[in-house]
Amino acid sequence: MSKVWNFSAGPAALPHEVLKQAQRELLDWNGSGMSVMEQSHRGKRFIAMAAEAEADLRELMAIPDDYAVLFLQGGATQHFAQIPMNLAGPEDSADYVVTGHWGEKAVREAAPYVRVNIAATGYGDGFRRLPPREGWALDPRAVYVHYTPNETIHGVEFGDVPDVGEVPLVADMSSSILSAPVDVARFGLIYAGAQKNIGPSGLVVMIVRRDLLARPGRPMARILRYAEHAGQDSMLNTPNTWGWYLAGLTFQWLKARGGVAAMAERNRAKAELLYRAIDGSGGFYANAIEPSARSRMNVPFTLHDSALDADFLKESEAAGLFALKGHKAVGGMRASLYNAVPLEAVQALVAFMRDFADRHG
Ligand code: PMP
Repeated sequence: MSKVWNFSAGPAALPHEVLKQAQRELLDWNGSGMSVMEQSHRGKRFIAMAAEAEADLRELMAIPDDYAVLFLQGGATQHFAQIPMNLAGPEDSADYVVTGHWGEKAVREAAPYVRVNIAATGYGDGFRRLPPREGWALDPRAVYVHYTPNETIHGVEFGDVPDVGEVPLVADMSSSILSAPVDVARFGLIYAGAQKNIGPSGLVVMIVRRDLLARPGRPMARILRYAEHAGQDSMLNTPNTWGWYLAGLTFQWLKARGGVAAMAERNRAKAELLYRAIDGSGGFYANAIEPSARSRMNVPFTLHDSALDADFLKESEAAGLFALKGHKAVGGMRASLYNAVPLEAVQALVAFMRDFADRHG
């Protein structure tokens, strides 16, 4: 039983069972008499754990052998810049499909390292829908196409993987990785900050097709080059050992619960319940995203009168429902429904929302 229901966008709720296991193992991990945080990443125990975490992720996502799996640092934001450094030469251009705040940030960070072509953007529509596919200005000479399958702030999600032909597709899956099955072979590179569906912040998981690691990119320090990390099993320098360990526990938790397909079913049911409550509230609550582009992970919503926002937040916290305040870029509320948020939490939220609307409608 959770003390509270946590709807934070990230760092976000972790599976209760994972936290309990970490607590049990904190002072004596794996019979070592020490915590996992206190031991060398070069030690036998840690190396075995790290390899198992990678193997579990490979199994969960059915990652083909011609992809490397990296456990990196720097947050997704650092990789907004590092990806073009690795995949593009100084004269190259890359296509960006922008569907919200994080896609815009990816463009800003990439711009010093690659010629950015905004192939499509939802900006003109207030990021309330995906730019229609027929209008995308993809350049066949682009060295990659970057997009954000799920926009955490705007609550806009792709229902499928866009077809971009032969150009490698690069996806910032920070807020959707492991929430539903994906065909990894459709991508050149997938990356995700861990602090939503994987573990604590400070860890980035990257899945990259090995042929892309052979690209020369531009001159850069060795520590920035993905091929170097791949060649050293992500132990070029000291990795985030605690993050890697917790990610491994989360992968085991996922496997024990039917894997990603089972999560997708749960996530669909959770999102459906919340969107139904919003749409059925007679206008008391609203979500402005075109229904086909609505996110299953992050559900932003507004109250019909923003003067009620403060009361909503105060009363929801008192009812044990935490972190519902929306991002300042869009205002209102946001409920994030990552894998570790159970259906029961969404049921409690929906019951609270109905009660609040009855009292304030
Ligand atoms: N991309 C997406 C989709 C995100 O949701 C976030 C963070 N919420 C980021 C990138 C930035 O991640 P970080 O803070 O790890 O750099």
